[in-house]
Amino acid sequence: IQRTFSIIKPDATKRNLTGAINAKIEAAGLRIIAQKRIHMTPAQAGTFYAVHAERPFYGELCEFMASEPVVVQVLEGEDAIAKYRDVMGATDPAEAAEGTIRKEFALSKGENSVHGSDAPETAAEEIAYFFAGIELV
Ligand code: ATP
Ligand code: MG
Repeated sequence: IQRTFSIIKPDATKRNLTGAINAKIEAAGLRIIAQKRIHMTPAQAGTFYAVHAERPFYGELCEFMASEPVVVQVLEGEDAIAKYRDVMGATDPAEAAEGTIRKEFALSKGENSVHGSDAPETAAEEIAYFFAGIELV
């Protein structure tokens, strides 16, 4: 059993898609074991996406992630990290497979509805950034 970290991004919360996205997560066999709505500052988004600091879209990405509230989640399941990346689909919705969250809901490569951790180390870091140990059972 593995845990991964997920964000339902501003483009999706704004369009009231939290439940629809959660239904896809649960249908894939992943369990939502922690969830809350927060509104990040641009600085908090910048820390979260620090790995992309040198990319040309970094400023825009931080502004977007701080533009509206988001829903942060911890998902648990067998092979949760890879499984959630499959459910999310490709970063660019134009390249995302049929049935994936991004194919169905994402607006563009930037406004692409969800984030999911890409490795066990980043999953652990990202979960610890947003959730206290006492919130995780
Ligand atoms: P995430 O990390 O959000 O789960 P990802 O792993 O599929 O997405 P990354 O390459 O880590 O993609 O990029 C992080 C985020 O930066 C993307 O989800 C997207 O919102 C944004 N992004 C990536 N490439 C671009 C781009 N060319 N233009 C605008 N935004 C981009
Ligand atoms: Mg990524």
